[in-house]
Amino acid sequence: MTQILDGKAQATKIKEQVKAQIAEITNLDKPTMAVVQVGDDPASTVYIRQKEKACAEVNMNFKKVSLPNDISQQAMLAEIDALNTDPAVHGFMVQQPLPSQLNTDEIVERIDPRKDVDCLHPYNSGLIAENRGVLLPCTPAGIVALLDAYNIDLEGKHCVILGRSRIVGKPLGMLMLNRNATVTYCHSRTKNLSSICQQADVLAVAIGRPKFVTADMIKDNCVLIDVGINRLDDIDSSTGKKLCGDVDYEGCFEKTSYITPVPGGVGPMTVAMLVANGLKAWTSVKCQ
Ligand code: NAP
Repeated sequence: MTQILDGKAQATKIKEQVKAQIAEITNLDKPTMAVVQVGDDPASTVYIRQKEKACAEVNMNFKKVSLPNDISQQAMLAEIDALNTDPAVHGFMVQQPLPSQLNTDEIVERIDPRKDVDCLHPYNSGLIAENRGVLLPCTPAGIVALLDAYNIDLEGKHCVILGRSRIVGKPLGMLMLNRNATVTYCHSRTKNLSSICQQADVLAVAIGRPKFVTADMIKDNCVLIDVGINRLDDIDSSTGKKLCGDVDYEGCFEKTSYITPVPGGVGPMTVAMLVANGLKAWTSVKCQ
């Protein structure tokens, strides 16, 4: 029988643990997380509000740094430097996407790796590749934590990852490899995609294509992780929602052993891991 991987419930547990640890901080200032927003992209504003809410839930201070859409690269780097050296900010992230005049790689590489709560700095990715990561990338770490919560052991499993983005696919593969899984990456140039997916014990999908994975592409009793968040123009008649994942959830459900819903699966785990990183960043900034 299929079991739903309840990311919302598990995220609540993680946030409760972070909250309890923050409550124990008495003789030092509490962790503060900052999020930098350039411009006023509505989707970014929604995501930042979710982060602010999660910080409030765990009693972590939250600071939003709002910058104009036409900010120069030099001015942006100066803002990053200011956050790096601000003793009252322990962790921060720059909400992406950034406007085209900005060099995202240079900005990410300017972040103090200890304060890099999004875990995008190459130093932190390198640590993950070496299985020595402290700060972990939020979405991939959230997926692994969700699998752990349901005692789904990755050792020896064939994990197939659809998508190789810097934020999801690539680091997810590294975390799974660190758990002794056999990992296959697929992307837009992959040939025979369906047949590779059909071999997956665990299939994680992060491509941003509504309902791309269908029942004929998966093996019986696989674990199906849907990272996609796709906003639809119209309400989906089968779900009544204006949001769907990269997986045809209804079509695949019966064939899986475990499946994540959208919403309520990977999304809440991502935000929970961000506040967990906020606490880790506080620990490395304050206690080292
Ligand atoms: P991205 O940067 O756009 O990368 C998409 C990846 O999918 C690329 O590697 C691309 O291949 C691959 N791809 C695209 N079309 C494909 C196809 N037809 N067949 C095979 N591979 C294909 O995306 P992302 O940032 O990883 O996000 C992916 C999805 O996850 C989006 O819906 C996003 O909203 C969602 N997301 C959710 C969370 C969460 O917390 N739940 C967090 C982050 C992202 P190439 O590399 O060859 O171009």
